[in-house]
Amino acid sequence: MTDPSPSTSPLADVLGRIAAAAKAAGRDPKAVTLVAVSKQQPWEAIEPILKAGQTTFGENRVQEAQGRWAERREGLTLHLIGPLQTNKTREALALFDVIETLDRPKLAKVLAEEIQHAGRAPRLYVQVNTGEEPQKAGVIPGEVDAFIAACRGEFGLTVEGLMCIPPHDEEPSMHFALLAKIAARNGLTKLSMGMSGDFETAVRFGATSVRVGSALFGERIPRPGEG
Ligand SMILES: *Cc1c(COP(=O)(O)O)cnc(C)c1O
Repeated sequence: MTDPSPSTSPLADVLGRIAAAAKAAGRDPKAVTLVAVSKQQPWEAIEPILKAGQTTFGENRVQEAQGRWAERREGLTLHLIGPLQTNKTREALALFDVIETLDRPKLAKVLAEEIQHAGRAPRLYVQVNTGEEPQKAGVIPGEVDAFIAACRGEFGLTVEGLMCIPPHDEEPSMHFALLAKIAARNGLTKLSMGMSGDFETAVRFGATSVRVGSALFGERIPRPGEG
């Protein structure tokens, strides 16, 4: 995964693979956005990708993202792809263009209030826990239609898409297919699915954005207390 041929950069390699997967599926390669996941990466790893023209980045922690991007966010599109604490909502709204991890009524309520306060809204995706894993964030499939309806009705939010992180020990295809099905029946057009190990499969199943970290930047620096 992390050994592109010497003649191409990792960015060109990943973009080429996305385009090839899209074409093979009869899709327009431009319909798939690469979200470069820069969490836990040293600046030396990020800078070449930024210089090569990549403008969409994903981060999973608000504070870490602020440190990395707040002073240089002009012209960029930033996606929050990690869990959002309600007490970080205001900061998240100030930094991110897309929040992919809307997953509970309390967060929907606070987001709605903070959007009013800020006078601008990020694009919102609902995270679905397609594998129903207890340790993972996201709404379980059996509850997601009602949750989307509540986001729209009760909280007045515009939901644009869905996001999932399949269990890492399962074939991802069925999870991608499930996410696409839930999106279709709820009239949602955006699907954030696929990571370094499976983004081509995700494109085949209709991903409109893929979140790729290690295949672009190399291994992440572990956070203290994390392996
Ligand atoms: C870290 C992360 C990624 C990127 O994972 P890679 O396997 O390095 O591509 C994608 N999505 C989410 C939600 C992540 O937290």
